[in-house]
Amino acid sequence: MQGKGVSNGIGLGKVIILDNEEIKAEKTIVENTEKEIEIFQKALDEVIQEIKELLNRISGTEKEIMQAYLMILEDPLLSEEIINTIKEEKYNAAYGVEVGFNKVIKMFEQIDDSYMASRSSDIKDMKEKVLSKILKKDTVNLSKLPKNTIIATKELKTSDTAKLDLKNVAGIITEMGGINSHMSIMARNHEIPAIVGVKDLLLNISNDDFVAINGETGEIVINPTKEECVKLEQMKQAIAMEKDELEKYKDKETVTQDGHRVQIFANIGIPQDVESAIENSAEGVGLFRTEFLYMNSSSCPTEEEQFEAYKSVAENLKGKRAVIRTLDIGGDKNIQYMNLPEEQNPFLGYRAIRICLDDIPLFKTQLRAILRASSYGNLAIMLPMISSVEELRKAKEIIQEVKDELKNKDIKFDENIEIGIMIEIPSAALMAESLAKECDFFSIGTNDLIQYTVAVERGNEKIEKLYSKYHPAIIKLIKMAIDGAHKNCIHCGMCGEAASRPAFIPLLIGLGLDEFSMNSNKILNARMMIRNLNYEDCKKLAEKALTLSSSTEVELFLKKDLFTSDF
Ligand code: PEP
Ligand code: MG
Repeated sequence: MQGKGVSNGIGLGKVIILDNEEIKAEKTIVENTEKEIEIFQKALDEVIQEIKELLNRISGTEKEIMQAYLMILEDPLLSEEIINTIKEEKYNAAYGVEVGFNKVIKMFEQIDDSYMASRSSDIKDMKEKVLSKILKKDTVNLSKLPKNTIIATKELKTSDTAKLDLKNVAGIITEMGGINSHMSIMARNHEIPAIVGVKDLLLNISNDDFVAINGETGEIVINPTKEECVKLEQMKQAIAMEKDELEKYKDKETVTQDGHRVQIFANIGIPQDVESAIENSAEGVGLFRTEFLYMNSSSCPTEEEQFEAYKSVAENLKGKRAVIRTLDIGGDKNIQYMNLPEEQNPFLGYRAIRICLDDIPLFKTQLRAILRASSYGNLAIMLPMISSVEELRKAKEIIQEVKDELKNKDIKFDENIEIGIMIEIPSAALMAESLAKECDFFSIGTNDLIQYTVAVERGNEKIEKLYSKYHPAIIKLIKMAIDGAHKNCIHCGMCGEAASRPAFIPLLIGLGLDEFSMNSNKILNARMMIRNLNYEDCKKLAEKALTLSSSTEVELFLKKDLFTSDF
């Protein structure tokens, strides 16, 4: 089979199919309700038993969550509700579970307490577990996978991506999804070979098939021959050797041949990613996508949980800077327990800073955690999706309020913590000069900047060809952001995927970008490239690129001397 490679590498392993279609219970009226009650009881007992077994193997927050799940399932009120529904309405077991659980979910949602209301998503999870037993649709436990698993699915949702047991994932193949979706970014981040857009994947593949995938070419071979396996193993080794070659750049400065110094930072999703950032000699963290803390949890992480996460990043970086981006949820990053409204255009809707400026307690909890952690290292706050000066001002007012509250309580924090913004909406790039007067730094988010500039949804493979970082409008907006920052003496970085692209790096150097932030595994390659560049030549290259009028011209021009693949 053939798809589109979105994350390099060779993956060999056994397939686990992830069926993430919503489980739906059909309504049937039955005569023998006793039999249906028995089916329900059996399914409930099985789920309870599985959770009890799991409790012996886990600890910490995960254990607490599972204990809460157990309490829900063992609550006699829930069973009574379901049994009565089956008896009175003469429903089949599955539909009785659906209706009975829904009544309890509704009760929780009506409680005027955001913590209790958010528990309703736990009950929904439990409903799915019991239903999947009755309908014999076993769900995959994504956080505990066998070694060398190749995940095959229609589409890997961002919330599922967050749960993946990464060390055991040898590859990901999907029918849908694009090169710029969060799943693809995550796969590149963790060096997991990935292929998207595989037509009829689920018709042609089965659980336990042994497959080989090539994340560069997009090839998938089911049950490869011995010879094919040997060839693939050799390719795997060649990739590993190339990586070894880059090791020598670990203790080198990021500087061009003619002495122009820039910095390379790492993008991280969870605190543990700092390890790989340090291992790859990142000069700091330029983007901590904190939404993964929220997506990895079944309710909003508490201030204490967040404080511990940010503190560990600050401490482990030992004085190097870490930019903590405030919650960037919405769009393709949904969190069930937040009960975000269904929207016609989620990417243009209620998301990121818009949610935080609306739900002040949610925002303040995160800010308190970041500020408290700031006294343990070198942290900065970054606001996503800023589209106007008003939003920046409002966010800064709230940050000041939190600072005042902490001061009144004698709680320590870094009073001079820098506040920066993402430039990822065209209006922000156009207003860069005004915005730069009121914040401490910029970081350009090309992933969103491209989608909003050319009006092409970033994960939509059907229109993927139109989503181009080479569009002359993107180059102009990047220049505006960098110039706006420099005119006001603040620095400008880039944490979108374009920052690590070999074809783009000389252009960004020429445009004057100060900081590159990228997946840790791209850092050494980028440093090697930059050390071979000449700043004066790059400036000329940028000047020329700015005169071109189509994406094709820009792409051909920037790729003319390039021999490596450029996702
Ligand atoms: C971006 O938009 O470029 C970015 C870095 O943020 P995210 O990919 O998390 O939206
Ligand atoms: Mg973004």
